[in-house]
Amino acid sequence: MGFVDDTLLFDARARVLADLQARQAASPAAVSALEDAVSSRRWWAEQWPEGAVYVAGLVAQDVQDALLETEGRWPVCRSCGDAPQHALYIQPDLGGPDPVWVCEETGEPVAALGRLG
Ligand SMILES: [Zn+2]
Repeated sequence: MGFVDDTLLFDARARVLADLQARQAASPAAVSALEDAVSSRRWWAEQWPEGAVYVAGLVAQDVQDALLETEGRWPVCRSCGDAPQHALYIQPDLGGPDPVWVCEETGEPVAALGRLG
């Protein structure tokens, strides 16, 4: 079994929580989805320690997928004025390194993960 640095998972959790709060999306269901994502990615990182740099972005993607099924799009793009509502996505798609939110429509970076507020 690999060694997983807890600070990595705390950091991933803190960054995704900050972005949920930045969009008033930190409902009990969203926080619970976040806890689930952190614990399943902890297991994943134990199997593949080299994947550590991807964890934060993957947790964000997991929460995004969970919310899409229950509460709708998160986070919504606020950079495109009158365009129909669309989401932000994590780039790189693999989840890291250095995950940023990009606009689905323009592909432009909007904020680093954890910096939506
Ligand atoms: Zn946009």
